[in-house]
Amino acid sequence: MQTLRKKSLFKLSSASEEVPMTTANSLDFGAHVFDIPKLKQFLSEKAFKQMLQSIDKGIPINIVLADQIASAIKAWAISKGATHYTHWFQPITGATAEKHDSFFNLDETGIQIEKFEGEQLVQQVPDASSFPGESLRNTFEARGFTTWDPTSPVFIYEGTLCIPSLFMSYTGEALDFKAPLIKSLQKLDTAATDVCQYFDKGVGKVNATLGWEQEYFLIDRSLAASRPDLMLTGRTLLGHPPSKDQELNDHYFGSIPGRVSRFLKDLESESNALGIPIKTYHNEAAPSQYEIAPVYEVANLAVDHNALLMDLMNKMSFRHNFIVLFHEKPFEKINGSGKHTNWSLVTNSKINLLSPGKTPMGNLQFLSFFINTIAAVLKHEALLRASSVSASNDLRIGLHEAPSAILSIFIGKHLMQVLEELENVSKGKLSPQEKTDIKLNVIGKIPEILLDNTDENRTSPFAFTGNKFEFRTVGSKANCAKSITVLNTIVAEQLFLFRDSVDELIENKNMKKDDAIFNTLREIITSIKDIFYASENEKEKAESLAKKKGLSNNKTTPEALPAYINESSIKLFESLGVFSENELQTRYQIDLEEYISSIQIESRTLGDLAQNHIIPTAIKYQNILIENVKGIKEIYGSSFKEHASEQILILERISKHITEINSGIYAMVEARKKANVIKNHHKKAMAYCENILPFLSSIRYHCDKLELTVDDEIWPMAKYRELLFIR
Ligand code: ADP
Ligand code: MG
Repeated sequence: MQTLRKKSLFKLSSASEEVPMTTANSLDFGAHVFDIPKLKQFLSEKAFKQMLQSIDKGIPINIVLADQIASAIKAWAISKGATHYTHWFQPITGATAEKHDSFFNLDETGIQIEKFEGEQLVQQVPDASSFPGESLRNTFEARGFTTWDPTSPVFIYEGTLCIPSLFMSYTGEALDFKAPLIKSLQKLDTAATDVCQYFDKGVGKVNATLGWEQEYFLIDRSLAASRPDLMLTGRTLLGHPPSKDQELNDHYFGSIPGRVSRFLKDLESESNALGIPIKTYHNEAAPSQYEIAPVYEVANLAVDHNALLMDLMNKMSFRHNFIVLFHEKPFEKINGSGKHTNWSLVTNSKINLLSPGKTPMGNLQFLSFFINTIAAVLKHEALLRASSVSASNDLRIGLHEAPSAILSIFIGKHLMQVLEELENVSKGKLSPQEKTDIKLNVIGKIPEILLDNTDENRTSPFAFTGNKFEFRTVGSKANCAKSITVLNTIVAEQLFLFRDSVDELIENKNMKKDDAIFNTLREIITSIKDIFYASENEKEKAESLAKKKGLSNNKTTPEALPAYINESSIKLFESLGVFSENELQTRYQIDLEEYISSIQIESRTLGDLAQNHIIPTAIKYQNILIENVKGIKEIYGSSFKEHASEQILILERISKHITEINSGIYAMVEARKKANVIKNHHKKAMAYCENILPFLSSIRYHCDKLELTVDDEIWPMAKYRELLFIR
């Protein structure tokens, strides 16, 4: 009997059929999106203006306007062939969720009518009692509701009109990623617009921008199907690294294999129609690893587009007989995947606040946002780190290709020097000479410094890369809203503090605006200097310095997560109205639960695999060897050992590995039983981390040794060299 693996390999090697391109390439950008130009075309001028105001300033939309918009959307959607609509949202599980309703309804005489009015546009009640977050919901109103987010345009996806929405409980608590993201964006807007007034009175709004870089693996689906670990957990729990991996670096930026290229072309064309502005895709460092990145957008839309693209990639990979792995570490000893999130601030007049200006005042504005962002990140480093953790990302963080668990910041030595020089400005009022000097020789030089500010350290967790900060700790599987919400909130808090301090110096110390700004910046630099310089070092040095300076170094999810619910985080989120304490506590519990169940599933899967696949295969091979030894004995009689010593050694080695695997599984199950009775979620997660996770490595070790020993013909699961190199 052939193994599934052998069948798949045979099919792959004999397959000459090409998966045809599935979509027309000629769709216009945004063809499936009801964007601003379409709104303008379909709405009256007055309604269009009201709608823009609502998008811009979050002004609620009244039901009359909602009816008008709904009717315009319906006309457009039906003309495009849509038959259903759904509120499309991002529950805390990280995936996207939908509940499809038909446009068609029956009127009182039983005649079919199309019904989609303001009411349906604005709200939908999915039967969502089994999403995480249930504990937040009142028992007798166990259903949350979704509410339209007019700042992200509706779109048609697989014949369904999708209405980007928020997901809330009836008591108003957020059950999704988007509601807190939007709240954080609004606070950041207020705080940043306030600070901009020092430099440019014309600024009326500041938005956060986000450009994500999505890494992933693309694996042949039939080969992956021979691996229950990949199918159930998204990563390989077993597998010996291939003799060739990424040492030759021949995959990185190399030519994209034909089959992958066809997948990407299809993906690009669909993304285009959905208004996702894909800009680049290329091979990544590891074999079969790729990256896809769009042009950056305002953060809310960028988050939606990332979630939508991940969904689209899953669906599209099916058509091309691939499986997409978003897991952060699908293959041991092979680079993992991240989702670098590039973040900046942009004004309504399209000025990037993290890009130096053309004038000294513009540069001082840049420095204000630059320094305050650094201060915010250092103050809340443990929280920002906590926003990025998960069981899967823990397997990636700290390895040589990925950022470390210490949230260090990289800004480059030239900008470092600028900070040092700024710290040396006189206290109080600056003399005209000193001011001119700083403006010309310190901040005046920033634009030219930045031209040469290459970031040589590609694994720094939080790096300034010329006109944006790049948070690299975020995992490839994560919803980036989680980290962006934290980043927005901590920067908003810091900007409010900055504004208070500058105003105080102007009003009470009678300082001029620029003196007050210089003084406040100087104080901030002094206050963060120690911890900042400590965090700026290379990895090893950072470890010891971080400890000395109190930077956190939480290597695992259960160690990192409590930063969400410490006093400073609760105060931060509550005072800015982004999360209530109750919401934080619930999210904390959900994250712990997710951690526990993810290791639980991996542990069970490994147990089953080892018992049902690996050990029987090893025994099969032992039987082949036994037959061989018997045959040798028949020929050589009592001197058979001379001729069969190696076979006997292999037999013994296999037995040893089988024993180790079996006792490992037994001990792992016992450890699970012990952990499962722990009531406190945090303690239970710690138990999973400390007492169960190590078994995943020790059992694997013996299985991988067997993979190297047992006859390749009978090995049941696709090997790394096949998964990663055959396309
Ligand atoms: P890499 O990090 O691979 O070297 P780049 O430095 O060119 O690549 O930046 C990649 C990402 O940064 C892109 O996704 C791009 O959209 C994003 N990006 C560029 N400018 C901004 C900005 N002002 N705000 C947010 N993201 C940005
Ligand atoms: Mg990058």
